[in-house]
Amino acid sequence: MTLDEYVRDFRAGGYEVTQVVESVCGGCGGRTFEVQVTEECAVRRRCVRCSTAEFLADSAEFWEDDGAEECACPCGGEEFAAVLGLSCRPDGEVRWVSVGLRCLGCGACGVHEDWKIDYSPTRHLLTRA
Ligand SMILES: [Zn+2]
Ligand SMILES: [Zn+2]
Repeated sequence: MTLDEYVRDFRAGGYEVTQVVESVCGGCGGRTFEVQVTEECAVRRRCVRCSTAEFLADSAEFWEDDGAEECACPCGGEEFAAVLGLSCRPDGEVRWVSVGLRCLGCGACGVHEDWKIDYSPTRHLLTRA
């Protein structure tokens, strides 16, 4: 199963995932990341190749450095490919997002965070993978 399929199958929040966008480093185009999360479900990824750090979806708005933890796979791996899964309402606004990671050590997929989006407009989130 690909990471794209995994995230669609997971149906975060119980909603159909209507779009899956792969994370690509804005600095170098890399696709290997270390990923940090906070208790507030904010997610930041850092490119292994060039160290550019970027936030997923609206995470920048509620990010706190205190309490940020590195994502780790049960195998111990800390390098991942990442996707942002989005569930859009019929009017096109985003109602739920999820962050899927595939461990580059063992290949295991997981949805590491997901959260509700309860405001609009939200179309800018579609590019924040
Ligand atoms: Zn990079
Ligand atoms: Zn692993």
